[in-house]
Amino acid sequence: MRALVCREDGRHLPADGGAWRCPCGGLLDLAPGPALDPAEAAREGPSLWRWRHTFGWADDAVWRRVTLGEGGTPLVALAAEQPRVLAKLDFLMPTLSFKDRGAAVLVTLAAMVGARRLIADSSGNAGTAIAAYASRAGLPCQVYVPAATSPAKLAALRAHGATVVSVPGTREETAAAAQEAVAQTGAFYASHVFQPVFFEGTKTFAFEVWEQLGRRPPDQVVVPVGNGTLLLGVHAGFGELQRAGLISAAPRLIGVQAAACNPLERAWRAGAAVAEPADNLGTAAEGIAIAAPVRSGQILEAVRATGGRFVAVTEEAIGVARQELGHQGLYVEPTAAAAYAGLKTHLEAEPADGVTVWPVCGAGLKAP
Ligand SMILES: [Zn+2]
Repeated sequence: MRALVCREDGRHLPADGGAWRCPCGGLLDLAPGPALDPAEAAREGPSLWRWRHTFGWADDAVWRRVTLGEGGTPLVALAAEQPRVLAKLDFLMPTLSFKDRGAAVLVTLAAMVGARRLIADSSGNAGTAIAAYASRAGLPCQVYVPAATSPAKLAALRAHGATVVSVPGTREETAAAAQEAVAQTGAFYASHVFQPVFFEGTKTFAFEVWEQLGRRPPDQVVVPVGNGTLLLGVHAGFGELQRAGLISAAPRLIGVQAAACNPLERAWRAGAAVAEPADNLGTAAEGIAIAAPVRSGQILEAVRATGGRFVAVTEEAIGVARQELGHQGLYVEPTAAAAYAGLKTHLEAEPADGVTVWPVCGAGLKAP
């Protein structure tokens, strides 16, 4: 099992101890794992577990019980006049969002290290995904949600057998309540933000895109960013492809935020190393409405390292994009529409001939 490494003081912690933060308070990454071997992946398929040789852990008996076949999503052009703008249909997964990539992998790890029960906090796709895979693993799961969470989302969580704990207050206060419960009970904190193993799942997005493009990287990837769970995974994935000598350069990462909640876009514009908490003025793109992203420094570093940028989109642009996508056959959640709106804004500002990939990260049926 790969060690966890503190981003602040470099301390190593065992990954099987259930730690989600260093004793110094620092965020954790995973120590580098085994090199990517396309021949190894080619023997398997088609789920994301074909890349498990890069995890450096994965007990066959456990992941085979937990998996629902997540990963392996289509990469398609939406418009004939834009054949080099490709949508990766990551909402075509068991719980209808890209979060299945990270959740399947994180819950598998939790089961492997002997977790007896899981605690998560999320008001949306991550909570549903964790709850679904926890039920597969036979692990009781409590999901902390802000009191304002819609009844439809609570119904999905309960359908998977999760216990819902409603917390009066903000998204941040909800996370604090979950962390308090983890400290008191010794439950495994199945956090898609703090647990770096979540990004082991989302990094497979990059591997699949590389393979689908004929073993070539795209020129840029446009990613909606709240807590950065997809962006950091994509960055890690292309980094591994580069270290394995399979690509010479990583694609530019273009992060998209809603103008109504844009701490990262603001920090990027200001040239700041970390994001100051922003006000959430209210956006339909709930999946990226994160006022104080805990991994902001890491996200800004990743975007800058690729020569990328951030784009902010208005509520009006999100609405228009959602309608356009509907007319292209895709009924998507507003967060996915925000990504498409950001893509259009970016390509208008910086027209590019190369291949642009963006994720259709969540289905419309789950959104209001
Ligand atoms: Zn530390």
